[in-house]
Parts: sequence; C-alpha cells; structure tokens
Amino acid sequence: MASISLKTFVGLRQSSSDTYNSGHVFPVKHLPAQPASRGLRIIAGKFSPKVAGRNLRVAVVGGGPAGGSAAETLSKGGIETFLIERKLDNCKPCGGAIPLCMVGEFDLPLDIIDRRVTKMKMISPSNVAVDIGQTLKPHEYIGMVRREVLDSYLRERASASGATVINGLFLKMDAPKGPTAPYVLHYTGYDSKTGGVGERRTLEVDAVIGADGANSRVAKFIGAGDYDYAIAFQERIKIPDDKMVYYENLAEMYVGDDVSPDFYGWVFPKCDHVAVGTGTVTHKSDIKKFQLATRLRAKEKILGGKIIRVEAHPIPEHPRPRRFVYNGNYLIYHL
Ligand SMILES: Cc1cc2nc3c(=O)[nH]c(=O)nc-3n(C[C@H](O)[C@H](O)[C@H](O)COP(=O)(O)OP(=O)(O)OC[C@H]3O[C@@H](n4cnc5c(N)ncnc54)[C@H](O)[C@@H]3O)c2cc1C
Repeated sequence: MASISLKTFVGLRQSSSDTYNSGHVFPVKHLPAQPASRGLRIIAGKFSPKVAGRNLRVAVVGGGPAGGSAAETLSKGGIETFLIERKLDNCKPCGGAIPLCMVGEFDLPLDIIDRRVTKMKMISPSNVAVDIGQTLKPHEYIGMVRREVLDSYLRERASASGATVINGLFLKMDAPKGPTAPYVLHYTGYDSKTGGVGERRTLEVDAVIGADGANSRVAKFIGAGDYDYAIAFQERIKIPDDKMVYYENLAEMYVGDDVSPDFYGWVFPKCDHVAVGTGTVTHKSDIKKFQLATRLRAKEKILGGKIIRVEAHPIPEHPRPRRFVYNGNYLIYHL
C-alpha cells in the first residue's frame, strides 16, 4: 500500500523518462558520455587527493530532506560541507506520508513519526469506501511525519556529521573565473549577530548542490530548464478529539472529478490534527474548487474542525531537463 500512495504522490504521475542530461551554461569541459542514471557519484572522500592541498568544499543549497541528507552524506565522506537553509523552522507544505522503507534507509528514529497508518480507505465518487490497506503485513505501516520535525532532524544529523548549517537565503552565484577558481555564492545570512535583519555574505566552494525545491534558484542559475508540475493544496484542520479517534491510524483517499480530475483528495492524520488536501496537473486554476469538494466529501468526519494552516505548493512532475554543470574540476548538481 505504501508504494501505491507514495509512488503516485511524489510525482503525482510517474515520469515518462528519467534521463541523465548534461547542461552547460559556462565554457566547460564535456563530461564523458554517461549512462542513463538517476544519481551522480562524487568521487571524493576522507582519503581522496585534496583540492589544492585542502578538502573539497561543497555547498548544499536548501535544507529539506534532499539537502539535509546530501549534506550528511558529504560530510561523512570527509567533504567540507555547507548547508544553506533560508528558514530553519520552515514547515514545507506536505502531506508528510513516508513509506516504511524510508525509515530504514534514512535510519529515522521512530519518535519523529506522529502516526503509523495501517488502514487506508479509497473512497469512490459515490462515496463507497474500499479498504486498501489490507495488503500490509503486521509490522508494516505508512509513517506520517510533520515536515518541520523531519527536516530539522535531518539537518541536525548533517550538522552532527560535521556539516556547517547556515541560516541564509541563497541569492546568486558567480561562476569560477578560472580552472582552479571557486564558485562564489552570495547569500543573506541570518543569525543572532544580525538580529534577524540579514547581512549580505559570500561563500567560496568547489561544487554546489541545488536542493532548494520546486522554485530553485540554483536550477535557474544553471539554466536547468522547466518542468511540468502539479499544484497541491492542503489545509491542516484541528478536529474534535472524538473525531480524531477515527483517524488514529487511518488515511483516506478520495477519487472523482469533483476532488481532482487527475489525482486524488486525501485526509492524512497528523499528531493532533488532520491534513486535508488535493492536487492536479491538468486543472490548476480549479484547485480551490477541488479542495472545497474534498473537504465536503469528508464533511461528517471532520465536522467541528478548525483550519489552522493553509498550504499550497508546486510538485514537479519529473526532473528538470538539465541537471548538472561541469566546469573543469567543479560541478553543480541539481537534485
Ligand atoms: C501539499 C503537498 C503535499 C505533499 N505530500 C507528500 C506526501 O504525503 N508524501 C511525500 O512523499 N511527498 C509529498 N509531497 C512532496 C514533497 O513535499 C516533496 O517531494 C519534497 O518536499 C521534496 O523535498 P526537497 O528536499 O527536494 O525540497 P523541499 O522540501 O522543497 O526543500 C527545499 C528547501 O530549500 C529551502 N530553500 C528554497 N530556496 C532557498 C534559497 N534561495 N536559499 C536557501 N534555502 C532555500 C526551502 O526553505 C526548503 O527548506 C507533497 C507536496 C505538497 C506540495
């Protein structure tokens, strides 16, 4: 079940191709032909030859799950890592459903999981509910996390592994001016010294990883190209305790043209409230209408609820066409 909900969620629809394209916005040396692959391995570690007598320096822009994990991996590999996140208490709009395999693969502690969903209902346009969680084995569940909790946990772990976490807004970067010159990142730094006002700063690094989400500035900088996207809308609703009992370990997915012509509406349980949302690629301007319909479908079960937060965000349908730039020794990679 986890694979059904999350596979469709992460990109709303499966991407048709996931090819590995190089992009060149500066005068660059061409990389040798690469096989189609999702990942890119940076071959550097504790025992790698130093770049000009020092460790490789990498900036990771964006401290969501992708950036936090990348920063942790790099710093564990002996790379001098800087993780730049504009808002350390950021609460990314997200249903927060994670598959069980993520708990193991990312070695997540169980106490950051608010709810363990073991029951899932798919609800038809005529409101007939089908239980679709029955294929779960006794130990299996879909984890529900709050992104503010997950993201800050991953960033703290990166920091504990040696990454420097910078509270800053990445603005732009200058390309290397020569074969051994660095990228120069410009950002507004927020820390106690600047009293929250922010101060323009620069950072010199050998490589940059853009993990700054759907509206990535790093992607714009490297001319990564556009993508089709879905718009997702979600309301966090605090419902009375007796209603919350129903959603204790249960998630609902609503289908039908009223809630979305190409996706589904959902009610996901959180620690002390539910997240009600929907998404669409094909009818973006109607998203609020679909959201209202999702709320109406769940009406009886969320009666008396109070909306405590409204969130909307694009979700890329597939990776951007151009995902890395190679400049002599240096590399920008967009996750
Ligand atoms: C409404 C909604 C519901 C969703 N529900 C689910 C779900 O239930 N399960 C699931 O698996 N996925 C879900 N998704 C998708 C999921 O949220 C994304 O796939 C995931 O957040 C991508 O992670 P990321 O680290 O790549 O980027 P993000 O999570 O977007 O993180 C990017 C980070 O970069 C920071 N940043 C951006 N610009 C800058 C800058 N200039 N300088 C510094 N920092 C910057 C941001 O503050 C943010 O912390 C949902 C998405 C939406 C919109």
